Amino acid sequence: MNWHDIFATRMSRMKASEIRELLKLLDQPDIISFAGGIPDPALFPVKAFQAALADALSPVNSSSALQYSVSEGYGPLRDWIVGQMATLGVPCSRDNVLITSGSQQALDYLGKLMLSPGDTALVNWPTYMGALGAFNAYEPNYDRLSPGGNRSAEDYAQTAAEHGGRVKFAYASVDFANPTGETLDLRQRENILDLADEMDIAVIEDSAYQSLRYDGEPIPPMLALEIARKGSIEECRTLYCGSFSKTLAPGLRVGWVCGAASVISQLVLMKQAADLHSSTINQMAINTVARALFEDHTAKLRQTYASRRDAMLAALQEHMPEGVNWTRPEGGMFIWVTLPKHMDGGALLRSSLETQRVAFVPGQAFFADRSGANTLRLSFSLADDAKIAEGMKRLGQAIRAAG
Ligand code: PMP
Repeated sequence: MNWHDIFATRMSRMKASEIRELLKLLDQPDIISFAGGIPDPALFPVKAFQAALADALSPVNSSSALQYSVSEGYGPLRDWIVGQMATLGVPCSRDNVLITSGSQQALDYLGKLMLSPGDTALVNWPTYMGALGAFNAYEPNYDRLSPGGNRSAEDYAQTAAEHGGRVKFAYASVDFANPTGETLDLRQRENILDLADEMDIAVIEDSAYQSLRYDGEPIPPMLALEIARKGSIEECRTLYCGSFSKTLAPGLRVGWVCGAASVISQLVLMKQAADLHSSTINQMAINTVARALFEDHTAKLRQTYASRRDAMLAALQEHMPEGVNWTRPEGGMFIWVTLPKHMDGGALLRSSLETQRVAFVPGQAFFADRSGANTLRLSFSLADDAKIAEGMKRLGQAIRAAG
């Protein structure tokens, strides 16, 4: 069977990354890994989920918990999200919220909704690798989003036309971004909205880490800033993607999109066609647990992750050689390291694994144009302070040996 002639052209863009394959080998116990950007399972609210699932499976609730449900998502959970969005400066109603299977599904649907082959998506350099993976299936061209506002709408439009399409949206991970840990300031958020208004394009605001701020003042989401400009969410071009993965549990796969009802209704059609709805029982469990302990639980997460971030920043300061720079995130799970120009993160990963038994993600895969060879992403979410100190010492040695 010649599968290559059978596969759709979109599959040519969907390649397993060599680095991901390498990172699969990381479960040997002597390796200290800062590669996985995932929550610490020791912090999952397991007891609360046990009680919530037992309740969902009780005689009164099981007939709905195990049944098909509506594509829009579980009503009480959408209501809880409406309340949460209001605290962020986003007044909205149930009709503005679609529950998705993780915010990853929201990225896939938004790509499917807007991108025809050859259209352009504006993304940061670097950006969330999973967003590139989701959009790639729709065969877009990427251009570099400049949150500093130093590229004109005409310039973007002309570059897009040269690639045979038009710019459809700007995508940005706004708070403590994956992979850099950086946060867009108010000016940068306003610049993106200005550009979007001028170009008549959508804005995808990825807010997966929003609840994990450890210090500094919260900055309103772009959706809130846009509502302040336009008066109502129905007039807005920003589509906010939220997630329970970093706050409650990623394995339940519950996230959401919040935006104008006219767009949400299109996404509902898409969800109906793709998977009917997200898991009913998982949405019910998330709803119960969020209502019981979201604030207290996220406060606990913030305390633990903040101390790991501080431990990593201190260890980087102590062990990194001259010429290595890194970000100082105010939240999230990641620190982004820039090596001297001549160094290569992929080669460093190989040598670090072999000689120091320490792992991270080389930065190149986060760049749509495959630049950034001299960068790498470290995650501080999984390791305790002692592992972080030892790991940074080993990484410093690996960098010295490679440099
Ligand atoms: N956006 C960003 C920036 C992420 O880092 C992730 C998870 N790594 C996601 C979206 C997707 O998360 P989920 O589908 O679990 O909500």
